[in-house]
Amino acid sequence: MSIPQERRLVTAIPGPKSQELLARKQAAVPPGIGTTLPVFVTRAGGGVIEDIDGNSLIDFGSGIAVTSVGNSAPRVVERVQKQVADFTHTCFMVTPYESYVNVCEKLNELTPGDHEKRSFLVNSGAEAVENAVKVARLATGRQAVVVFDHGYHGRTLLTMTLTAKNMPYKQGFGPYAPEVYRVPLPYPFRWPGENPAEEAYAQAVDVIEKQIGAKNVAAVVIEPIAGEGGFIEPAKGFLPRIAEFCKANGIVFVADEVQTGFARTGDLFACEDEGVVPDIICTAKGIAGGLPLAGVTGCAEIMDKVHVGGLGGTYGGNPLACEAALAVLETIEQEDLVGKARRIGEIMLPRLKAMQERHPVIGDVRGRGAMIAIELVKPGTKEPNPEALAEVVKRCHAEGLLVLTAGTYGNVLRFLPPLVMPEHLLEEGLTILEKAFA
Ligand SMILES: *Cc1c(COP(=O)(O)O)cnc(C)c1O
Repeated sequence: MSIPQERRLVTAIPGPKSQELLARKQAAVPPGIGTTLPVFVTRAGGGVIEDIDGNSLIDFGSGIAVTSVGNSAPRVVERVQKQVADFTHTCFMVTPYESYVNVCEKLNELTPGDHEKRSFLVNSGAEAVENAVKVARLATGRQAVVVFDHGYHGRTLLTMTLTAKNMPYKQGFGPYAPEVYRVPLPYPFRWPGENPAEEAYAQAVDVIEKQIGAKNVAAVVIEPIAGEGGFIEPAKGFLPRIAEFCKANGIVFVADEVQTGFARTGDLFACEDEGVVPDIICTAKGIAGGLPLAGVTGCAEIMDKVHVGGLGGTYGGNPLACEAALAVLETIEQEDLVGKARRIGEIMLPRLKAMQERHPVIGDVRGRGAMIAIELVKPGTKEPNPEALAEVVKRCHAEGLLVLTAGTYGNVLRFLPPLVMPEHLLEEGLTILEKAFA
C-alpha cells in the first residue's frame, strides 16, 4: 500500500487549509449538504484518510460502508485506469459491453438462492430500491409497499417515503408517495415485550391483513440489518417469518442490502445469516469501491415481466463502475474479506463490551462482522443520550479517528472500517475511543 498506514496529526483537526476550504464550501454549497468531519481529503487507502494539511486519520467509516476494499484499492485502480483509456460511456442500452454482463452474472451467482436470476445496474442505492418497487408492482399488478420502523432506503421521493425518520430525511419535502405502509421492527434493545420477533411479526401481519389487505401488497422492503436506523439487527426469527409470509401471499420480498452487502457483516450478504432468500435484492455501497454503481437482482420470472425499455437509465452500469465492481469481487474473494470482516468483529466486540462495563453511558453494543455499533443512553436508563454521543464523536475526531453516527434517536455510534484495515490501526482506533469515553 503506497500510503503509510499510520495515524499522524500535524495540525489541529480541521487544520488551516481545511478551514479555508470549508469557508469556500459554505459559500458555494447549500447547508443541506452536511459535513461529518470537515477535513478536505487529498489521498486515502487501506485504513487511513490523508487531508490537505498533512494529517492522516484512521478511517472507521469507509465513506459510509462503500470502500470496503479500501480507497483506490490496487485492483480497482488498475481495471478502471485501463477502462478509462479504452472507452468511458456508450450507454449500455444503446451499445452494450461485456463488463456489465459480467457484473450481472456475478450478482446472479453470488446473491442468496440458486434459482434462476436476472440483474440490472443503476447508479445509487435509492435508484436500486425504486426500481425494485417498480418491478414488484408490475410483476404483481399490486400497488402497496410495506416498510419497517427505523428503515432507511434513500433520498428520492419514493425512497424518502419508504424511510422512517423524519429529520433530516423527510421534513418539509412532502407530500410523500402514496401506498406506503409502515410496520414494527423488533428492535431487541428497545422492544417492550418478552418475544420481540413474535410480537413484531404478529403486529406487522395484523397491519398487512387488516389495514392494507395482503392481496394488495406488491412488496415488502426490509434491510436485514437496519443501517441508518442504528445498526438494528431484527430479533432472530423475524426475517425468515416475514419472508415466509410474503411467499404465502404472493408478495415480493425485497432485501435492501445496500449497506449490509458485499462481505460487510461477515457474510457476503446479511440475509445468509438466517438463510433468507429474497425475491429481489438491492445492492450498492460496497459493490464498486467508491465508483457509483448499484444492482437489482431478482427471480427471473419476476424480472422478466417488465416490457422492453421499462428499466434503465443513461449512466446505469457505467463501464468504469463495472470494472471497479469486478475488481471488488475479485478482491473480496482473493483477500478473504468475508473472513476479515468477521475478524474485525472479533476484535471490536470484546473491547467495546469491556468499555460498556466501565461506562454506563453505553447502553448496548451490537453488530455483525465489520458493521458494529454502540448505543448511548443516560446511565441507568434506556433514555437516548445524543449529547454524550456528540461529545465522544468530537473527541474522536480531534484525535484523528473518523467515526460516524446513526440511529432513529441520534444516539448511535457506528463503525464501518474498511475490511482491509490493518489490525494495529483498528486497535489504535479503539484505544482512542476508550480515551474519549474516559
Ligand atoms: C445508503 C442506503 C441507501 C441509499 O443509497 P444511495 O446510494 O445513497 O442512494 C438505501 N438503502 C440503504 C440500506 C442504505 O444504507
